[in-house]
Amino acid sequence: MRYISTRGQAPKLNFEAALLTGLARDGGLYVPEAWPQWSASQFKKLAGRPYADVAAAVTRPFVGSSLKSAQLDKAIAAAYGTFRHQAVAPLVQVDESLWLMELFHGPTLAFKDVALQLLGQLYDIVLKERGERITVVGATSGDTGSAALEACKNRQSIDIFILHPKGRVSEVQRRQMTTIEADNIHNIAIDGSFDDCQDMVKAMFNDPKFRDRVNMSAVNSINWARVMAQIVYYVTGALALGAPDRAVNFAVPSGNFGNVFAGYAARAMGLPIDRLIVGSNRNDILTRFFNSGQMKMSKVAPSLSPSMDIQVSSNLERLLFDLFDRKGKKLGEAMTAFRETGSFAAPKKGWASTAKLFKAHRLDDRETLAAMRDIYKRTGMLVDPHSAIGIAAALEARKAGKANGRSVATPTVALATAHPAKFPDAVEKATGIRPALPAHLADLLARKERLSELPNDLGKVQDYVLAHTRLGHNR
Ligand SMILES: *Cc1c(COP(=O)(O)O)cnc(C)c1O
Repeated sequence: MRYISTRGQAPKLNFEAALLTGLARDGGLYVPEAWPQWSASQFKKLAGRPYADVAAAVTRPFVGSSLKSAQLDKAIAAAYGTFRHQAVAPLVQVDESLWLMELFHGPTLAFKDVALQLLGQLYDIVLKERGERITVVGATSGDTGSAALEACKNRQSIDIFILHPKGRVSEVQRRQMTTIEADNIHNIAIDGSFDDCQDMVKAMFNDPKFRDRVNMSAVNSINWARVMAQIVYYVTGALALGAPDRAVNFAVPSGNFGNVFAGYAARAMGLPIDRLIVGSNRNDILTRFFNSGQMKMSKVAPSLSPSMDIQVSSNLERLLFDLFDRKGKKLGEAMTAFRETGSFAAPKKGWASTAKLFKAHRLDDRETLAAMRDIYKRTGMLVDPHSAIGIAAALEARKAGKANGRSVATPTVALATAHPAKFPDAVEKATGIRPALPAHLADLLARKERLSELPNDLGKVQDYVLAHTRLGHNR
């Protein structure tokens, strides 16, 4: 399997190189040259298999010759051995046609662990074999940071720097990052928004001298390997509910579009997914895009679901690449124009099928709290604000479908992306109940924090990375 850049101007890479490279040198994102095509019988063979077996089968064609089968199996076993639930991504039935998929049983209580635990293992294997070290620099709106730090902590071949917007992540999220004790991890609070943090990471990638000097890599969802790892639970979820013999919908609370893009990839491989339902908070660039075909940037505003407080959804570029008939140069020009003007219109050709596949719904904070309260009242389940947005979007899509005379029999899986205890204030506000942290994090609020504060200034952040990465010193 070879990977090409969405901007068409960077070299084609194999899996190993795409894993280590992150953002392509032309500013694009790596995508498979072609989607593997699976038959119904290939999917059927995986029904009822353990999560690790499905993960091995689904990732195998994407990894290609970069890893031996035994290496991949070992990485998968180690990655998912850290989960507190044997099913890794268990389904819970909510009503006659809605299921919740719990993706929060990993070490940091958010779905990011599913991809990042595997990414950490893959890095380790590949870097040891090459005798190389890397510096990972990432931006987080809350959950990526702790998941990436947990996945990379104490790894000899990695130094990791995580930028988060100061004061804009929850206390639990911050402490999950700043209380990890390991010499190779660095937390930086930036005086700015998540988009500022993400822009700085992109700018560092677009600075070849800096990038080469520290051998920089990315754990943000621009890294293809993360999308790949996430395809797996779309497959296990759909198979459990009757695929490939019947179609399934997925509802996904979305920020950077990484999670839901994995659903798109699963569908491109042949998994019968009828609808991908996107939920957003007041930062609703995605929902406006799918409802109008127009993308218009606006300011990021803080919300109860901080992991989705994003205006520029990086992974959308991977979808746009297909919408642009995989013409990278044209897409590159459009993305540059979007950066300059803050607006963008989807190409007319292909839009009808995109608009049919993706349904989108937005909730403000008041509606999010109401959704959390409603789910609790109806089912007794406590859900975090992000998951509640996905569930509400699923219910909204079902209502709209009924109005259009669509069959309601198609099951929908709403992805629960965080454990309720990760956002205890919002859960308590909505339901009156304060969810307790699982045992392994029970003393989190008493642990000592370690972090540095820096201004929203690229030069200062680069200096900090150079001063602290072990690689920078050696050269
Ligand atoms: C990251 C995150 C999201 C958004 O996922 P994307 O892949 O960025 O769309 C949603 N919910 C939670 C809890 C998250 O941590």
